[in-house]
Amino acid sequence: MKNKIQVTRSSMPPFEEYIEEIRDIWETHWLTNMGVKHNQLEKQLEDYLKVPNVSLFTNGHLALEIAIEALELTGEVITTPFTFASTTQAIVRKGLTPVFCDINPDDYTIQTESIEKLITEKTSAIIPVHVYGNICNVTEIERIADKYNLKVIYDAAHAFGVTMDGESVANYGDVSMFSFHATKVFNTIEGGALTFKDSKLNEILNSYKNFGITSGKTVEYIAGNAKMNEFQAAMGLCNLKHVDTEIEKRKKIYNRYIELLNDIKGIRLSIPKDGIKSNYAYFPIVFENYKYNRDEVLEKLSNENIYARKYFYPLTSEFSCYQHSFKIQETPVASYIADRVLTLPLFADLSLEEVEKICEIIKK
Ligand SMILES: *Cc1c(COP(=O)(O)O)cnc(C)c1O
Repeated sequence: MKNKIQVTRSSMPPFEEYIEEIRDIWETHWLTNMGVKHNQLEKQLEDYLKVPNVSLFTNGHLALEIAIEALELTGEVITTPFTFASTTQAIVRKGLTPVFCDINPDDYTIQTESIEKLITEKTSAIIPVHVYGNICNVTEIERIADKYNLKVIYDAAHAFGVTMDGESVANYGDVSMFSFHATKVFNTIEGGALTFKDSKLNEILNSYKNFGITSGKTVEYIAGNAKMNEFQAAMGLCNLKHVDTEIEKRKKIYNRYIELLNDIKGIRLSIPKDGIKSNYAYFPIVFENYKYNRDEVLEKLSNENIYARKYFYPLTSEFSCYQHSFKIQETPVASYIADRVLTLPLFADLSLEEVEKICEIIKK
């Protein structure tokens, strides 16, 4: 097995399916601006995610920035630093101050007991992350948001298709952001979406993704461009047909990892809680007093052409671009996990033999 095993590998439909899907674009010459395929994909995703509204964007990050603008957030936003750069960057780029809350040691989502003491007069929202597809304590977050009149935007980039007691993850908070980047469970090459219950947001979001234009000639918002084009949407229509099969394949790989790594002293796994239908997006493991540390295991794997990832390390609160910009709160649990976590390769076409090989190297 000398082939490289990357941490992930993008899902693609059979070539002929994509060619068939894009054929009529050569008849219509309609390439972007809420085309037929774009609108079709919005409808299909509303069904799949069981939400009343889906709005598509050219990527998840711009969707998140636009959600912040459309909900008119101001001042401070409570969030976590154990996430991908995008979450914190969106908050800071929109002129807001991130206030970092610590995470739970078991599922790495926001520690809800610590939220209230971070709320000030300037707080306008909470932006929690469903890390690795683990669902945040949504009930408690809703209670706090109601009590202090805060908005909630979930970074659900990892949580496509996840349900809790049958309820879609897309239905929590004011808005949820999904990423359809090439590396995610469901992709449109680059792409993203916002889901929300309040149908009034549709018009505002459509305007925000299109230079603030509302009707033909009125420009109501100061906005840029974040539209999803027809080729992205076509990829989405094709990939959506296969996503359930892909998740099934991921599940087999995930369960094999669990069988092989479950009872090892010093290795902690995060196993989906009861009532959760997972999408098996990632396989993070945490090394705690194991015979090798995280960086040593990473190196042993890469010597064998296997590329795991320190995901998430470093914390976003440690990025050099934020030094001196604002007061950074201490988050000891997040620091502890970031220093010890490793995300193992996981994608639909990873073979069980490859999983066994990876686990053997870790145990050796
Ligand atoms: C991928 C990701 C994003 C950004 O999505 P893009 O579609 O790549 O812009 C945001 N947050 C998290 C947690 C992500 O993993």
